[in-house]
Amino acid sequence: MANLYLETAERAEPTMPLAGERKADVVVIGGGYTGLSTALHLAERGTEVVLLEAYEPGWGASGRNGGQVNPGLKHDPDTVERDVGGERGAGLVAFAGAAPAFVFDLIERLGIPCDARRCGTVRAARHPKHVERVRVTVEQWARRGAPVEFLDPAAVARATGTAQYQGALLDRRGGALNPLSYARGLARAAMRAGASVHGGTRVTGIERNGAAWRIRTASGQVSCAQVVLATNGYTDSLWPKLSRTVVPVFGAIAATEPLPAAVTRDLLPGGHVVYESGTVTVYYRLDEQRRLIIGGRGPMQEIQTPADIPHILKYARRLWPSLAEVRWTHGWGGRLGFTADQYPHVHEPADGVIACLGYCGRGVAMGTALGAALADRILKDTREFPLPITAMKPIPFHGYWPISVRAAILAGRVADSLGL
Ligand SMILES: Cc1cc2nc3c(=O)[nH]c(=O)nc-3n(C[C@H](O)[C@H](O)[C@H](O)COP(=O)(O)OP(=O)(O)OC[C@H]3O[C@@H](n4cnc5c(N)ncnc54)[C@H](O)[C@@H]3O)c2cc1C
Repeated sequence: MANLYLETAERAEPTMPLAGERKADVVVIGGGYTGLSTALHLAERGTEVVLLEAYEPGWGASGRNGGQVNPGLKHDPDTVERDVGGERGAGLVAFAGAAPAFVFDLIERLGIPCDARRCGTVRAARHPKHVERVRVTVEQWARRGAPVEFLDPAAVARATGTAQYQGALLDRRGGALNPLSYARGLARAAMRAGASVHGGTRVTGIERNGAAWRIRTASGQVSCAQVVLATNGYTDSLWPKLSRTVVPVFGAIAATEPLPAAVTRDLLPGGHVVYESGTVTVYYRLDEQRRLIIGGRGPMQEIQTPADIPHILKYARRLWPSLAEVRWTHGWGGRLGFTADQYPHVHEPADGVIACLGYCGRGVAMGTALGAALADRILKDTREFPLPITAMKPIPFHGYWPISVRAAILAGRVADSLGL
């Protein structure tokens, strides 16, 4: 069976494909967290917004991910401040650190049923060299007053139920949710606020029409002043060269049957969500029915069953030998958008067009928070946008990404096994 969340998520609010011609202030393309959050925050402030999604809200990575609400960016706070510079760097660190709270507060305010838990995120290190990096992250966040602590090997074993780790960061700002319920809840809230959300509507063209933009689909078109491109790892050739600014990395997840108490007693007794430090990250959590949901890099193909991703099942059994006899019921995959510098990117390639993508595996919190910031920017809020707005820079030799991603994963696995 494929995506578990199709069985466990809250019901979707039905949407109809776009039909005929209409006008709007803003058209959002893509119905994941980025697009839904932008549409929601615009509609709540009285903007006429139309969201067009090729399949249905949450169809992309937003309805398939690990459900980990992680604080921060890929890079440590000091690095972000150095790379971005000045007050803006400090502002971005604060923004990314507060992104999980933004998500949990939004869920509470809108009453979205999605099994949200502020249970804390653990970043666990298997190799002594990674422990040093984790210590650095702890020290840098602690210096900024974040609720983080270092877990020594005994403490991380108590938290995870496995003795495989040499140390970890516990960050109490993070947590978990059912990702598809969350996406569907955002869609419902956006519609209630007045946004027109159309599933089954792939955008096939964006054209200038005088001062406006004309957005074409097979079943209709919309004329608008502002376009938001929120297609992340599923970016196609819609806007010239945008797809060449991100590499679609394939992630895969496996889930067990609801586990008996005898097994879960020793599995994640700390109740946190966990991701491993290293280049090729493994992440896991228990869901509300006490299924283990564990993910990592996937093959570049459609994944239908857990048997398609044996490396993940093997890895899980290595962490907890007690899983030897349990049944794996679901396996699925999705596409993450990675950028060359591992920062999310925001571009304004033409007047009235904005694109936001490339969360590098941290889009649950950052996609939602940046969606709200995009709404602010479109409404000409005077606050500075949290990320620098950059020119689109196609990644060199982008056409070779299937080869380079495979090579990078292989190199990453070797580096991780050696603790480099
Ligand atoms: C397996 C996996 C595990 C992950 N785990 C985590 C995690 O635990 N924590 C975390 O923070 N992040 C995680 N991520 C990343 C996270 O899911 C993404 O960063 C986030 O969902 C991106 O949201 P988005 O709205 O930008 O893009 P998406 O949710 O991918 O949405 C893009 C949408 O655009 C639509 N689209 C594309 N082209 C068109 C078009 N021409 N017309 C209309 N619609 C179009 C697509 O159909 C798609 O629905 C994971 C990702 C994957 C794949």
